[in-house]
Amino acid sequence: MRTQIAIIGAGPAGMVLAHLLHRAGIDAVVVERRSRDYVEGRVRAGVLEQGTVDLLDRLGLADRLRREGLAHAGTNLAVDGEVFRIDMQALTGSCITVYGQQEVMRDLFDGAEARGLSVVFEAGDVELHDIDTDRPFVTWRRDGVEQRLDCDFIAGCDGFHGVSRGCIPDGVRREFERVYPFGWLGVLADVPPAAHELIYANHERGFALASMRSAQRSRYYVQCPLDDRIEEWPDARFWDEICLRLGPQAAAGVVRGPAFEKSIAPLRSFVSEPMRHGRLFLAGDAAHIVPPTGAKGLNLAVSDVAMLAEAFGEFYAERSAAGIDAYSARALARVWKAERFSWWFTGLTHRFPETGPLERRLQRAELDYIRFSRAAQTALAENYVGLPLA
Ligand SMILES: Cc1cc2nc3c(=O)[nH]c(=O)nc-3n(C[C@H](O)[C@H](O)[C@H](O)COP(=O)(O)OP(=O)(O)OC[C@H]3O[C@@H](n4cnc5c(N)ncnc54)[C@H](O)[C@@H]3O)c2cc1C
Repeated sequence: MRTQIAIIGAGPAGMVLAHLLHRAGIDAVVVERRSRDYVEGRVRAGVLEQGTVDLLDRLGLADRLRREGLAHAGTNLAVDGEVFRIDMQALTGSCITVYGQQEVMRDLFDGAEARGLSVVFEAGDVELHDIDTDRPFVTWRRDGVEQRLDCDFIAGCDGFHGVSRGCIPDGVRREFERVYPFGWLGVLADVPPAAHELIYANHERGFALASMRSAQRSRYYVQCPLDDRIEEWPDARFWDEICLRLGPQAAAGVVRGPAFEKSIAPLRSFVSEPMRHGRLFLAGDAAHIVPPTGAKGLNLAVSDVAMLAEAFGEFYAERSAAGIDAYSARALARVWKAERFSWWFTGLTHRFPETGPLERRLQRAELDYIRFSRAAQTALAENYVGLPLA
């Protein structure tokens, strides 16, 4: 088999790239190790930046998103129970849209089927070859048969645990990482959300977030020790804790109900540089991870591939390598800003082992500053709704 671009991984990065290339008339094949149902079923992101929504719109994939997504003009911060709102729309002219990653994936896969994009699911033992030559290729096993795909370029969109990043030699690759000393216990329940918009809470007992997936489905998180087990968090304990941390004003809106999904996720800041080596280009979680506090992971995956598709388009249309040569530096400039925001927002809202009385007072002083400063609110809102592609 031969194609122009081999895409490893059919998550948001891989599938958005496949659609962008298709629109540009560039041939691509996506190779995914899991089934469609598995990828579509993963409960993950839920907040889309304006730029992500606009891009899906341009790709003709946003009909359902426009109908069912919840546009939020603002977001709320609760500090020891006292809630204040940041009007993102008034401050930046943009808003965010709540639409689950599962729904995004369904739209991407349905669109791929309708447009005849090539996606190979359940590909085992995926390997990348000859990435530092002009003739790279990818191999995998399916139903016991070895397959080979020759290509011009490989896009490594295979997430944090994929094979692509490791193909960049140790002497070339530089990794930056921080693993946070706590996790997020997340719960999904079919109950109406506590409020129309998200509430991020900084409380003496730790961080909490009241979010949602739709008008009838709520998503809640509380900061918890990394070694906690799900069995230690029966529904009653979880609802009591979230209400305590949100404070009486926000908790008044919490509707309790049976949780049908409960999991503990670790938090990490991670960047691998460069995002290109030879004919291999990394995008999305394959190259970087952010703690979910800033809701940036999926959005960064989308902005990476928007830049990558532009670079490939330039290469094929104009026979110019300028775009692909600039890709890594251009993508990393935006990635580091999102890393900074996610790290900062996590530091502002969570309890760390070293958070003593002094650090606690400092956190509260900064939150108080944000509450009463238009400039500080604008800086937060600008980052939250998403910085432009540079
Ligand atoms: C609990 C949680 C909450 C989150 N909340 C948010 C949020 O609110 N907002 C936000 O923007 N982001 C959020 N994220 C992050 C977001 O889900 C990810 O950043 C996003 O999925 C990244 O997309 P991706 O395509 O780069 O990687 P992935 O979604 O990881 O996709 C990679 C794909 O590659 C496949 N793959 C892996 N290895 C191989 C291989 N060897 N061969 C072939 N295929 C392979 C995988 O099966 C997968 O389908 C959250 C994540 C988690 C875990």
